[in-house]
Amino acid sequence: MSTSLPLVFDAPKRGRPPRHLADLTDDELKSAVIALGLPGFRANQLARHYYGRLDADAARMTDLPAAVRPQVAEELFPRLMTPVRHLDCDGGTTRKTLWRLHDGTLLESVLMRYPDRATLCISSQAGCGMACPFCATGQGGLDRNLSTAEIVDQVRAAAAAMRDGDVAGGPGRLSNVVFMGMGEPLANYKRVVAAVRRITSPAPGGLGISQRSVTVSTVGLAPAIRKLADEGLSVTLAVSLHTPDDELRDTLVPVNNRWSVQEVLDAARYYADKTGRRVSIEYALIRDVNDQPWRADLLGKKLHRALGPLVHVNLIPLNPTPGSEWDASPKPAQDEFVRRVIAQGVSCTVRDTRGQEIAAACGQLAAEER
Ligand code: SAH
Repeated sequence: MSTSLPLVFDAPKRGRPPRHLADLTDDELKSAVIALGLPGFRANQLARHYYGRLDADAARMTDLPAAVRPQVAEELFPRLMTPVRHLDCDGGTTRKTLWRLHDGTLLESVLMRYPDRATLCISSQAGCGMACPFCATGQGGLDRNLSTAEIVDQVRAAAAAMRDGDVAGGPGRLSNVVFMGMGEPLANYKRVVAAVRRITSPAPGGLGISQRSVTVSTVGLAPAIRKLADEGLSVTLAVSLHTPDDELRDTLVPVNNRWSVQEVLDAARYYADKTGRRVSIEYALIRDVNDQPWRADLLGKKLHRALGPLVHVNLIPLNPTPGSEWDASPKPAQDEFVRRVIAQGVSCTVRDTRGQEIAAACGQLAAEER
């Protein structure tokens, strides 16, 4: 009997994450602080701890009266995520973290350090409902949306790791954030936009990362792309196109059955016009599936027509998921693809692939853990 007890307590309870300081706007934080019976100026002080000093542990906030620290900890700094594992590769410059959330949900983020920048790849949902067949996260389905604070706290933790020299290369600064981890960011729209604001607002109201250094990657939810264009943010939009024709895209990116290639490209054009930002097109090259020369020509033509100079193609060699019969394209096919896209007047490069040996393709680590 008693041996089954821990199982009861360990059972994942998928549920609403507790409210956290990073869920709140400046005004909401002030109200929350006053509701705790504290003077309003404490709001600014708490925000400085979290966004400025990257500290989420109220017990260490010694400029707060000791008597109120436990209550502040409980009400504004509940523990959102606990690291389950860190995996390092590429000489310690790529670091993947598997986190467990309060309800047992798993999520991943990956920090990649380059000579001139450090980029964090974050998750916007636990799991994903978009069901793209080549993607490990897509195979598992959607667990739940992440809260704003669960998104922001991935960034805070990585910024602290960079500052503290936990990543090879010595202390540094987290400069870029990409929403290319688990989940479809535009399917968790409100929380993602709120998280972008917290990540990019200057301290003490936010983490102070430049909007231009944040990339939101989407399967192509056309109405949400247009809505994002109207937010007055200048984040980079990446669209996971993966093929220029509806027939194949209906299977590679099933949401294409709802919004076609043309509708997605029209929305991307609207985004580019509204923000003045070049749109990135993501294209995972899959051997004998979407890597034919004619598809490269068609891709280049369609993109040039829809977006002119306001587009860049990122080719991603497929990172095969366990059990899949699909594979990356051979190097000569990849080179020919790039050449043909460029010949249509569209810039195109191959994404540097990091973290191959730590299962870094979207969702692979969480899938293994499950
Ligand atoms: N849902 C969003 C963001 C998450 S995935 C989107 O689809 O854009 C980030 C990028 O990784 C997407 O372009 C996605 O299609 C791609 N991706 C997923 N699994 C992959 C794999 N096994 N190999 C290469 N790219 C993959």
